[in-house]
Amino acid sequence: MDPLSSLDAPPAYVSLGADELGRRVERARALLEACVLCPRRCGVNRLAGELGFCGAGATPRVASHGPHHWEEPPISGTRGSGTVFFSFCTGACLFCQNYPISQLGTGNEWSTGRLAEAMLALQRKGCHNINLVTPTHYVPSIIEAVSLALPQGLHIPILYNTSGYDSLEALSLLDGIVDIYLPDAKYADDSVALELSGFVGYVEANRAALLEIRRQVGTELLVDEAGIARRGMIVRHLVLPGELSQSIEVLKWIAQALTPRIHVSLMSQYFPAHQVVDHPVLGRRLYHREYARVLDAADALGLEHGWRQELDRVY
Ligand code: SF4
Repeated sequence: MDPLSSLDAPPAYVSLGADELGRRVERARALLEACVLCPRRCGVNRLAGELGFCGAGATPRVASHGPHHWEEPPISGTRGSGTVFFSFCTGACLFCQNYPISQLGTGNEWSTGRLAEAMLALQRKGCHNINLVTPTHYVPSIIEAVSLALPQGLHIPILYNTSGYDSLEALSLLDGIVDIYLPDAKYADDSVALELSGFVGYVEANRAALLEIRRQVGTELLVDEAGIARRGMIVRHLVLPGELSQSIEVLKWIAQALTPRIHVSLMSQYFPAHQVVDHPVLGRRLYHREYARVLDAADALGLEHGWRQELDRVY
């Protein structure tokens, strides 16, 4: 990874200024009147109390927050990543390990002021960044919270940790606010994405989102002299049993359409949960040989940068 020339490089949102952040807040809130924050484009008026597929209202709901030490090393660093786990999700994975939070909405409603306070508290605890987990459906509140926290001294990078099912309208509002993107690339087959995760048109939408993210932050992961990420993107991919995540196709697209130099985080941690405990394929963990094939493909494609969960976690 390339170290930044200066340890003091400010996060991008600092340079936007209060006026521009104010305009972003207004434009983002307007998207809630006919919600198109994700590619599902429900069109419901969330400001008037209508709910779309995700079930999220206009006020953010938060399941938990605090320092997190198990993200990729440049994200968690030594003092942890300052996570804010949002309730609800724009997808509905049959195997979701957090379904009470993502699908039942477990959590508490927070004002944007409370969200801004939480960001500042995580910074005071020494966290390296603000890690917004499952943030897509709350983009307007996130921008508003950043605009409130900035004059109070927020100065650590903003990290957007997403399923990769984000509309281009939502992502464009984050340009210059988010410093580090952690998008998933979950599938290369729309019908499987729909059946297993409830995503409509996932592949095209995901690929468009990844290209937009690359346009915003580039393909290099910039780190400071301590190895902590300051700007860039890391693409995550969870390998499912039975090749149900089309992992090799996903990696081929990443290498060819983004660049083989991109940082990819390959995950082997899948275990059966929620609705798939008795599923003929998803009811088991990965086989060793399945994961090894994906790792070999990553090597063959020249995807050398990033992280790979260990083979000994699988059968
Ligand atoms: S965020 Fe997506 S799923 Fe939720 S209401 Fe908006 S368009 Fe629908």
